Amino acid sequence: MEFQNTREFARQLDANDKLAKYRDEFIFPHVNGKQVIYFTGNSLGLQPKRTKAYVDEVMDDWGKLAVEGHFYADKPWWDYHERFAAPLSKIVGALPSEVTVMNTLTVNLHLMMVTFYQPTQKRFKIICEEKAFPSDQYMIKSQVKFHGYDPEDAIVEIKRRPGEHNIRHEDVINTIKEVGDELALVLMGGVNYYTGQVFDIKAITKAGQDAGAYVGWDLAHGAGNIHLELHEWDVDFAAWCSYKYMNSGPGNASGAFVHERHHNDMDLPRFAGWWGHNKERRFLMEPQFDPIRGANGWQVSCLPVLSLAPYLASVEMFDEVGMPALIQKRDLITSYLEYVLHEIDKEVNGNFEVITPSEPKERASQISVYLHGEGRSLFDYLMENGVITDWREPNVIRLAPVPLYCSFEDMYEFGQILKAGIQSHK
Ligand SMILES: *Cc1c(COP(=O)(O)O)cnc(C)c1O
Repeated sequence: MEFQNTREFARQLDANDKLAKYRDEFIFPHVNGKQVIYFTGNSLGLQPKRTKAYVDEVMDDWGKLAVEGHFYADKPWWDYHERFAAPLSKIVGALPSEVTVMNTLTVNLHLMMVTFYQPTQKRFKIICEEKAFPSDQYMIKSQVKFHGYDPEDAIVEIKRRPGEHNIRHEDVINTIKEVGDELALVLMGGVNYYTGQVFDIKAITKAGQDAGAYVGWDLAHGAGNIHLELHEWDVDFAAWCSYKYMNSGPGNASGAFVHERHHNDMDLPRFAGWWGHNKERRFLMEPQFDPIRGANGWQVSCLPVLSLAPYLASVEMFDEVGMPALIQKRDLITSYLEYVLHEIDKEVNGNFEVITPSEPKERASQISVYLHGEGRSLFDYLMENGVITDWREPNVIRLAPVPLYCSFEDMYEFGQILKAGIQSHK
């Protein structure tokens, strides 16, 4: 499609957008009395209007029923999480038994590593990407030390080549081959939080498993954003947070995936708790742990139902929309944003560089822009003028044109504000 950097053209794209009506489902902050242009749905998604009713329902049941709510609420609390199995499994491409909701993301990755990182003298190395999200780096290092290994020996980071912003796929595959029979685990972010680069999860999973390792994915920026087929791709495990693209509220419950082939393997170590115990016999309070045969068997504690309520509202919305429609709009609006950026750069010599891959297969709902010029003060100008982006050192703003609630006109309008900002800084 030939794009144009005009309001009329952007409005035309909005008029043809089948998801446009979902914009009204969200609550937008205001700056100077004007609804903001929100680009930080990859950090904290906006609040859907329907969410409050889900939370109120739990609050009301708690008031009316107290402890009886566990079994007699309209949506009983004791198996509230099972409502996620069908819709959430579609979002990540899993069987319903392969997904669960519990804890928060880093905690879930720790629990998964208890199971899937079993280093031996010979096979003890972990491959991850250079500059992974800090929580992942801390987590991996602490697990390695916990097992008595030195992170310097055990952690192999895949690096960017000098002068390049993204990691090359062939470098991932070659590193896996090189580490070979010393490789215990590959654990990477499916979408890099900084550049928005999307990795080839299927091919990397296969390469890691061919080397004899387990392969797991941190899908913090993947769930609700990219096409996933975790079951078909044979991924061993994955976990994600729900507060970024999945709009379930600050710090909210995470989701996890464990491939079906591990469900009956009772030799795999895991940290157990009563919520992972055989559901039919849970309340018999027996001493012997008998795990649920499914991802739910990795649960530990009874569930934070008040946190799950907004997550359920969100998952049901995603189920209505469907990932294919979401991805279709995502690609168009991301390309349009990229186009607008280049047009503004040409008009006012903005001196910025898009560091997200230009190949649509290697990116999703994010454009990261490296500001060679004004930097931080331009970011502040955008915020003051109602464009919410985020700033990452040394000089990067990240823009997530989230397809559920961003409009094409937002992209055009953003371009105009950016242009005025650059001009006022010259
Ligand atoms: C956001 C994010 C996290 C956050 O972890 P929490 O445990 O939810 O605080 C972890 N990893 C990645 C890759 C992220 O993008």
